[in-house]
Amino acid sequence: MELDKFKHFSVFGNPIEHTLSPKIHSLFSKQTNIPCSYTAVKVPLNEFSNRINSFFNTIGDGANVTLPFKEEAYCFSDILTNRAKLTKSVNTLKKVKDEKILGDNTDGIGFLYDLNRLGFLKKNNKILLIGAGGAARGLLPSILSKNNEVFIYNRTYERAKKLAEEFRYLGKIQEVGYKDLSAIKAGLIIHATSYFFSKEKLILPSSLIHQNVSCYDLSYVKNSQTTPFLNWCKKLGAMNLANGIGMLISQAAYSFLLWNNILPDIEKIFAEL
Ligand code: NAP
Repeated sequence: MELDKFKHFSVFGNPIEHTLSPKIHSLFSKQTNIPCSYTAVKVPLNEFSNRINSFFNTIGDGANVTLPFKEEAYCFSDILTNRAKLTKSVNTLKKVKDEKILGDNTDGIGFLYDLNRLGFLKKNNKILLIGAGGAARGLLPSILSKNNEVFIYNRTYERAKKLAEEFRYLGKIQEVGYKDLSAIKAGLIIHATSYFFSKEKLILPSSLIHQNVSCYDLSYVKNSQTTPFLNWCKKLGAMNLANGIGMLISQAAYSFLLWNNILPDIEKIFAEL
């Protein structure tokens, strides 16, 4: 009987110190009895393709890619899944036949899984998406597929405008400026900026928060349920709050599925973490 090959996976990003991915993947590995290694690699900003090339040319079977390399990973891929083509960004790479590299994006499906779990996913909802970087791009096709009306706000207005134009063919989406925010009564606010890392303040009008709004922060702080954005929402009376851990676990589970053909039991991992 042929034994399954021990597989090697890594997550590549910068910064990477905060990542929980190695822990999550070791829980998946235990749960499914698929032995594999999973390490975190901090990549200097201009070194992405060198590092990922040498990983796949030596031990690598699959990789996750995080901030700020998802668009580079898209260009690096030889073959793309439909999800990756739609988002033009890649968070999961897999070595496939003939040493080719397949690029996928599991952020959107992971995010929808988590919204469903939390009961935040309503039909015909108004959604305010704050941020227009790689994470926002990764989510847009999924949230637009649910018939939602999306308003996108970003510090750099032009970037929000560009993203709205790019995804308008998939549903209702419009860019908004700071002055427009006070007129928006969204049922769901998704915070997808990295201001956290920049140590600057994110300034938003308090009128965005009302009792029935759900607030989802893609960021998370290790060993904490909350984040500065969620603290701000809570102080203003929001009651439905969630950080990005759920999305992190769910997108990781769909990467694991791509690599190993098994979807781990996501609920069990929530309990264990
Ligand atoms: P990115 O591509 O670098 O984009 C950064 C975004 O944050 C841009 O919209 C940028 O606005 C904005 N921003 C940065 N500093 C800001 C500040 N001081 N004030 C206001 N806006 C600011 O990063 P990303 O990949 O989109 O990631 C965004 C966040 O999502 C990160 O915290 C990341 O960890 C998180 N994330 C979580 C998951 C998960 O599974 N939970 C998955 C993906 C990402 P400008 O355009 O004006 O620069």
